[in-house]
Amino acid sequence: MKVKDLEFKKLITAERIEKKIASLGHQIEKDYQDKVPLFLPVLNGSFMFAADLMKVITIPCRISFVKISSYAGTVSTGQLKTLIGHDESLFGLDVVIIEDIVDTGLTLQKIMDELKGLGARSVETVALLRKSPAREKNIEVKYVGFELEDEFVLGYGLDYDGLGRNLKDIYRKV
Ligand code: 5GP
Repeated sequence: MKVKDLEFKKLITAERIEKKIASLGHQIEKDYQDKVPLFLPVLNGSFMFAADLMKVITIPCRISFVKISSYAGTVSTGQLKTLIGHDESLFGLDVVIIEDIVDTGLTLQKIMDELKGLGARSVETVALLRKSPAREKNIEVKYVGFELEDEFVLGYGLDYDGLGRNLKDIYRKV
């Protein structure tokens, strides 16, 4: 399949994704059965994963969408990134970040640091995909769907230059 200038090949089918999400969801439900977790899907990439995962989880919970906004700082070379979207207190809450993919882990570490600073009681992460750089750096991700090599993927929420988020399977660049 061609998307813009790149060729992609199917890597993970929608059926496998669905089965994996069912098992992730049941594990999370079990771990949080005595709590009322706050799920924080990180937009845009995790919208599809978050929707399917939330349908599996039946315990009482809250869902609030966040986004990483990057903007040019006052220093011309610097880029400041900050978490936007959740305006209420996190004090005493058990937060579960929902990420599409963890690559270097820099984004996730930044989010975790911000959330811990806002007084959350606990902060864990569920990521559908994790690449080898994050494994090598021991980035803390409690629940992982699929382990990938250092390869570029698209589909199921993930894009290439804005395209491909709507695909129900996951593809890798060939
Ligand atoms: P990290 O900070 O862990 O290096 O990067 C995380 C973010 O980079 C992800 O949330 C995602 O938006 C983007 N990203 C990393 N790898 C891929 C990939 O293979 N495909 C796509 N579409 N986005 C990726």
